[in-house]
Amino acid sequence: MIKKRPETVAASALGREDEATGALIPPLYPSTTYIRDPDNLYRRGRVYSRAQNATFDTAAETLTALEGGAETALFGSGMAAANAVFLALAPGDHVVAPRVMYWALRAWLEGFASRWGLLVDFADAGDIDALKAAIVPGRTKLVWLETPANPLWTVYDIAATAEIAHAAGARLAVDSTVATPVLTRPLSLGADIVMHSATKYLNGHSDAVIGTVTTARQDDFWATIKTVQSQNGGVPGTLEAWLLQRGMRTLFPRVRWQSASAQTLAERFSAHPGVAEVLYPGLPGFKGHELAQRQMQGGFGGMLSIRVHGGERAAIATAAHVSIWKRATSLGGVESLIEHRASIEGPRSPVPADLLRLSVGLEAVDDLYDDLSEALAQAREI
Ligand SMILES: *Cc1c(COP(=O)(O)O)cnc(C)c1O
Repeated sequence: MIKKRPETVAASALGREDEATGALIPPLYPSTTYIRDPDNLYRRGRVYSRAQNATFDTAAETLTALEGGAETALFGSGMAAANAVFLALAPGDHVVAPRVMYWALRAWLEGFASRWGLLVDFADAGDIDALKAAIVPGRTKLVWLETPANPLWTVYDIAATAEIAHAAGARLAVDSTVATPVLTRPLSLGADIVMHSATKYLNGHSDAVIGTVTTARQDDFWATIKTVQSQNGGVPGTLEAWLLQRGMRTLFPRVRWQSASAQTLAERFSAHPGVAEVLYPGLPGFKGHELAQRQMQGGFGGMLSIRVHGGERAAIATAAHVSIWKRATSLGGVESLIEHRASIEGPRSPVPADLLRLSVGLEAVDDLYDDLSEALAQAREI
């Protein structure tokens, strides 16, 4: 038997066939409940689909293989997935998260998680000494990273952070939504947990809200995460889980195309007169570029941000003039999106007011460049 390469695993969704029918594509099982054996046992292992849903298996096991983990649990959203990791801790536990991270999760940590009793510190996780100083040996139970991190694409060092966290008796969890297993495999770099908003690249078509958590080991912490999944009930719908296995089949070509286009756009917009700065890990001048070269394979992802000359007004006016790019939040779909990020994150956001976040899709890269370049020129004329 050939040991399948990741591209093959993804394209074939583990290469299984439906034994009952010979169907090449896995079925969608809407059933909420399962038959009990006459002798009162559940030998086939499924009871009720909040806890065990047959449609989840293909997506979950494909992702486990791609991440090189032990098991994956699916959740009703990326937020539900991330929450489950934190709720598997206990009130009074200390956690360290980066200052630059997905804003809704940062808000949840500052709000709900802190009220629930977690002691949360936000550190400049790009500075290993600052990170070390924020970790309290024996009390810090979890370090959270997101890399590259929304929306400045800050690159954090997974291997170095894992070492520091483990030395202090803490676990490391990584939100790998933007990198995807195509570019980075956090578990192979020492992380204990990898989380995805599968709403984004993994599904890839902007038509399902779903989240995942993959563990390196089936230990007690993992058992608690699974208990949170089934008892809090934040599981996805069956259709979403089915769409996820379908979406992941094209994950590799999508992410590689999107990374190549983002690299081209980052380079070309760096020389554009309407652009003050391009934030992209693939640019040699970008802080964290060398680290990204070590940590990411085959590209730097499909996300970049530009800071435009003329401040907030020019940024919003630029977004108003695009036609191929779509003005919308979210990321990782086949269509390119542009967003004035400060408008959605609100006044407490650390995001500069002149920043436009770009999610690069599968359109012709020259069309994307021309469309945004014209919009920048039009915004300057206002
Ligand atoms: C979107 C996103 C999330 C939240 O995921 P949802 O599926 O929207 O709940 C978390 N982390 C990152 C990096 C994201 O982009």
